[in-house]
Amino acid sequence: MIYRSAQQLIGQTPLLEISAFPIPNQCRIFAKLEMFNPGGSVKDRLGEYLIETAFAKGEINKETVIIEPTAGNTGIGLALAAQKYRLKTIFIVPSGFSQEKKDLMKALGAVIIESPSSQGMKGAIERAHALNEEMPNSYLPLQFENPRNPETYYHSLGPEIYQDLPEITAFVAGAGSGGTFAGTAQYLKEKNEAIQTAVVEPSGSILNGGLPHAHATEGIGVENVPPFFSNEIIDHIFTIPDEAAFYYVKQLAQKCALLVGSSSGAAFAASLELAKELPEKSRIAVVFPDSSERYLSKKIYDWSNNNEF
Ligand code: PMP
Repeated sequence: MIYRSAQQLIGQTPLLEISAFPIPNQCRIFAKLEMFNPGGSVKDRLGEYLIETAFAKGEINKETVIIEPTAGNTGIGLALAAQKYRLKTIFIVPSGFSQEKKDLMKALGAVIIESPSSQGMKGAIERAHALNEEMPNSYLPLQFENPRNPETYYHSLGPEIYQDLPEITAFVAGAGSGGTFAGTAQYLKEKNEAIQTAVVEPSGSILNGGLPHAHATEGIGVENVPPFFSNEIIDHIFTIPDEAAFYYVKQLAQKCALLVGSSSGAAFAASLELAKELPEKSRIAVVFPDSSERYLSKKIYDWSNNNEF
């Protein structure tokens, strides 16, 4: 098949059965490999949906500047989608996140403004709001509160997983903004309310009642419960320590030839935990959001020896 633009390559990612691992309870685990999107992550879906719907609703035009606070993957997804219309993009990125993501955003034409890492995502959000007020004809999609974030996955990731694995019994995904989990879980529960859902966070995130603190697992973790979450769509919450996430990043490379980021390692660790709790022979779909290649400068495969983490 011949494609006419990189944007056409978004979505329809492969679902790979992880067969090289002993999985508890004779369960089967199927990983949705989001690194196969053209910008390399699950967030390409979000970038495309946000830009396309804002155009369709007349909220932006060809002169609009897109501003967003992002740790990286959303910026790459937005820059990729915006390029189709030659829109300008400005991203506020807390310093400390991976250099590769910043380089990729810039390569796609974005302007990067770094905010102090001590102020975290909150500082980046405040800065983005201020810039949005200063700049006429600028647009702030705000993934952390925009209902179009979960809608993206309700319309794309959920249907793709259900189509490839109609016999699915459980769904596992990490939460940063919570959009991937919430939209997909909602879709799957509407299809079959017996499907069990599990949300994954790193230690240092608050969903299981813990106190917020810094963590090395990149892309997931929340300081507040995402507005898209409700008890109806969450059956299990797994809090995965950095050690386990990075252990499985290495294992997935060595045993399955899969080069995935630490949020995928955490999601896989949670899937193995969940398998112990589910009936025998359950089928678990898990989202692997991106690849390890964008974390090589952070020594993703040499995590325990790196004091930065
Ligand atoms: N993993 C990675 C690597 C990410 O960049 C993100 C997005 N921050 C997530 C997982 C979580 O996705 P969401 O924001 O939809 O919860």
